[in-house]
Amino acid sequence: MDNAASTPVLDEVIQEMIPYLKDHYGNPSSLHTLGREASHAIMNARKRVGSLIGANHREIIFTSGGTESDNIAIKGAALYARKQNPEKNHIITSMIEHEAILEPCRDLQKKGFDVTYLPVRNDASLEPSVLEDAISQKKTALVSIMFANNEVGTIQPISQLAKISHDKGRNTIFHTDAVQAIGKVPVNVKSLGVDLLSLSSHKINGPKGIGALYIREGLKIDPLIHGGGQEFLMRSGTENVHGVVGFGKACEIAHQRSTEYQNKLTTLRNYLIDKVIDQIPYSRLNGVRDNRNPGNAHFTFFGVNGEDLIIKLDEHGIAASTGSACSVKRQRPSHVLKAMGFPYEEITGSLRLTLGIQNTKSEIDQTVSILSEVVKGLRLLSPFNSRHH
Ligand code: PLP
Repeated sequence: MDNAASTPVLDEVIQEMIPYLKDHYGNPSSLHTLGREASHAIMNARKRVGSLIGANHREIIFTSGGTESDNIAIKGAALYARKQNPEKNHIITSMIEHEAILEPCRDLQKKGFDVTYLPVRNDASLEPSVLEDAISQKKTALVSIMFANNEVGTIQPISQLAKISHDKGRNTIFHTDAVQAIGKVPVNVKSLGVDLLSLSSHKINGPKGIGALYIREGLKIDPLIHGGGQEFLMRSGTENVHGVVGFGKACEIAHQRSTEYQNKLTTLRNYLIDKVIDQIPYSRLNGVRDNRNPGNAHFTFFGVNGEDLIIKLDEHGIAASTGSACSVKRQRPSHVLKAMGFPYEEITGSLRLTLGIQNTKSEIDQTVSILSEVVKGLRLLSPFNSRHH
């Protein structure tokens, strides 16, 4: 129940990767047969990744994952734009982005950029006019707004936000972190009108440590890693061939089965939400109901601590989360729930359950019945109990 953190690698993906660890181990830059085999495999994967998001293969560069793609997009675009025009030193993002966006933005602030962190409504959606008001035609180099939030699943109106950025800004670049949306909702870079888009393999049943950045043809940004010039000069270093091959296969599968997967995740997710709200008193769904990432459910259970919940669920063999795995490590209350205006006790009483394509209805039944008992037990120990009984 924690598929937003990571997903199991499909057998079909593993089978495609193995030959590139054993027999076809060549360096893709080598001219001999071994090298050419590896280079051909990368090309094939590039086409598959491109197909999933409606991009040309030349517009895809492979990276080490979503975090690196976000860093290249933010720093590469902002630094290049400022080099061309020193007035372009303004970046706009939102308060609910993943740390892979927020931290590079904070780093650029130290390097003289102004960054605006847009507020969101209490369901985590962004009001497009708030973006419009923040754009400076002269100064805004880059706008980066995430597609689907990793904690509460809210989907933003990306095509509308990209259009506003292009219409109001002058040469303003629009990036979206689509790491959580890929494979769950239709994503097409051309109809969205975005310039840059980040993807990660391990969220769509591919291997970890591999991802991609879509860079619209004709757009120039600075590379962050310099060396042998791989990935169209944008990301030097010998390619992670077996990772690239696995990611390509995961994208092909996600593309072929997109309608089936999207319907399955939406149906299971709605079933989970209805059952939790129906069976567990003093519980609330956070975020939006409809415009929500298909696998995501996020609740507050009043009078319960989310971390206690996770430990108890884990004892029953259920993996869940209070939010983003990265913020948990930092031991900070969720910046997303804070931006949504939640008071402290509602932030600490929250639980994220995120479904994957391998989950079943009977696993959800089991989860809700255990969750219901665990919440009841924890409330008996909390001051909430005496107030409500
Ligand atoms: N962006 C979002 C929205 C995410 O949810 C994640 C992963 O949790 C990342 C970026 C980072 O991706 P990766 O784990 O591939 O570095």
